[in-house]
Amino acid sequence: MNNQLESVNEAARETSVAQSVDVLVAGMGPAGIAAGVAAAREGARTLVIERFGYPGGMITGSHVVAVLGAGDGRRTLARGITREIRERLEPLGAVSRPNPSGDYSVDAEVFKWQALEMLEESGSRFLLHTLACEPIIEDGAVRGVFVENKTGRRAIRAKVVVDCTADADLAYRAGCACDNETHDVTLRIVVEGVGRI
Ligand SMILES: Cc1cc2nc3c(=O)[nH]c(=O)nc-3n(C[C@H](O)[C@H](O)[C@H](O)COP(=O)(O)OP(=O)(O)OC[C@H]3O[C@@H](n4cnc5c(N)ncnc54)[C@H](O)[C@@H]3O)c2cc1C
Repeated sequence: MNNQLESVNEAARETSVAQSVDVLVAGMGPAGIAAGVAAAREGARTLVIERFGYPGGMITGSHVVAVLGAGDGRRTLARGITREIRERLEPLGAVSRPNPSGDYSVDAEVFKWQALEMLEESGSRFLLHTLACEPIIEDGAVRGVFVENKTGRRAIRAKVVVDCTADADLAYRAGCACDNETHDVTLRIVVEGVGRI
């Protein structure tokens, strides 16, 4: 059997630069939200891009709503933007099951718009439904990202690119050594409409 993959040539093309920013954050999970908010608050022209149509990453997309490791086993210790998000969600009734270890759960739907509100307030801009495809590498450094969305393929120039894709998509494509490890996980499900017939 011939294992050699067939290949085709892609035509070379010029890609227009959609915008130039100070900080480009790829991925709008918890890491990307925090990176975007923090950078914009420092005054950097910041753009966060996300391949899906909502923020939150695993929290909202996969319903990983239990925030674990936020405490020391006795109380919640997490500070900074993690604490800020919790403090904004609490009055909205969107924090539940706080337990003695310091962990808690969040409402995934409220989390989505709360995250966007925080990004907007910080001055960060964002683009949803936009895939970070490839780093732009010039003179041996990452100078931006090629993105694709319904508009097509565009380039975004950035002084700093923060890879928050969780899979190191951009770092890997920029040539960084990447390893693959798995770890034990938990999943929570919501069951509704269950009753006796
Ligand atoms: C099955 C599972 C269960 C877990 N259970 C828990 C738990 O119970 N409690 C807990 O605290 N932690 C849990 N974790 C860990 C937790 O989910 C992660 O630590 C956390 O989500 C990491 O945040 P992140 O922002 O780095 O990545 P993610 O939440 O994965 O967010 C990455 C974001 O980047 C986007 N993205 C990816 N690639 C691109 C691209 N090329 N272009 C544009 N956007 C892109 C994704 O769509 C996503 O929105 C679990 C993880 C898994 C996989």
